[in-house]
Amino acid sequence: MNISRKEFLHLTGKGIIGLSLLPKLSNTFFAELSGRTNTTGEPMIEVKTKRLDLKHTWTLSRNSSDFKNNVFVKLEKDGIIGIGEAAPNVRYGENAELTTQRIHEATNVFKDKNLFHYMNIKDELDDQILDQSCAKAALDIALMDWVGKSCGIPLYKLWGLDPSDTPVTSFSIGIDTIDIIKQKVREAEPYPILKIKVGTDRDQEIINTVRSVTDKPIRVDANEGWKSKEVAFKNIEWLISRGVEFIEQPMPAQMLEETAWLREKVGIPIIADEAVKSSSDIPVLAKAYDGINIKLMKSGGLLEAFRMIQMAKALKMKIMLGCMIESSVAISAAAQIAPFVDYADLDGNLLISNDPFKGVEVKDGHLIYNDKPGLGVEGEF
Ligand code: MG
Repeated sequence: MNISRKEFLHLTGKGIIGLSLLPKLSNTFFAELSGRTNTTGEPMIEVKTKRLDLKHTWTLSRNSSDFKNNVFVKLEKDGIIGIGEAAPNVRYGENAELTTQRIHEATNVFKDKNLFHYMNIKDELDDQILDQSCAKAALDIALMDWVGKSCGIPLYKLWGLDPSDTPVTSFSIGIDTIDIIKQKVREAEPYPILKIKVGTDRDQEIINTVRSVTDKPIRVDANEGWKSKEVAFKNIEWLISRGVEFIEQPMPAQMLEETAWLREKVGIPIIADEAVKSSSDIPVLAKAYDGINIKLMKSGGLLEAFRMIQMAKALKMKIMLGCMIESSVAISAAAQIAPFVDYADLDGNLLISNDPFKGVEVKDGHLIYNDKPGLGVEGEF
């Protein structure tokens, strides 16, 4: 493709080059853009586990934790460093040890590769990493950070996105005692939308507690906690009376028929989270859910998240972009595609007290982008 870097930046600034052109652009084009025809040195991949401490004990309907061990990847080639992050999740049988092992096993995929051929690398990673999708996410995020840095521009600009299209992000309130929930809701005062974790036998108490402190919009996530469609129906009817905007994963992922029944009966959107990991899960969900919650840790990174966005849009489903408990590395990565989505839930780095990195910031629910290349992240690996 014959186009100068200046012309490209002009086009992306106009939003002309966007998602639809990505596959065509992905190979030689980016190499030309960065002033390279190939990458020469061998890539070096380093892996490190870092303990992220939670500000409050984090409780969902299925488990509780005070810290998370996330796995970080440093991908270095030709003097440029890309950083990635994996947030292993017990729901998907993931842990830091297995994730680290999968990353080490997959380093052969990068050997003798031109890293600008990142769609080919994605295909190979899909073949190689069959569990621990967060391991794939860490490598994909590091790869795309490297590509963005090599081109000298933030990924959202490379993809022709306008940060002002990014929806305000919600702030999550985990399950807790009445007093702590009140305290958390007060601490979340600057955030205009709250996401409340439910799926317990004391959901009404939790929501009434939140409502005793604030009347701001709330969304609700049951994390598969309601085990029958009748219970879910009754709970959602009550939640609607308390001004809830939508409900995430009311019942276990495998209860598809029951969720389809529920969707016909209730008047607020039902969003799939645990029921959807990657694009191949989406078509069957269209009959039971109004939307999907995309997370980079489930999809295995940004490139698969793109594919999911395209598929959900084609099926006229709503798109939410969520996260696990993550540092600013993975949150900044998700922010690079956030202008595409309907709902953002990118608060993982706000829930920890020792974020080792600094990148896209969340202020009062607004994502504050910077102009640094790649993910826009800085910090000690
Ligand atoms: Mg969820």
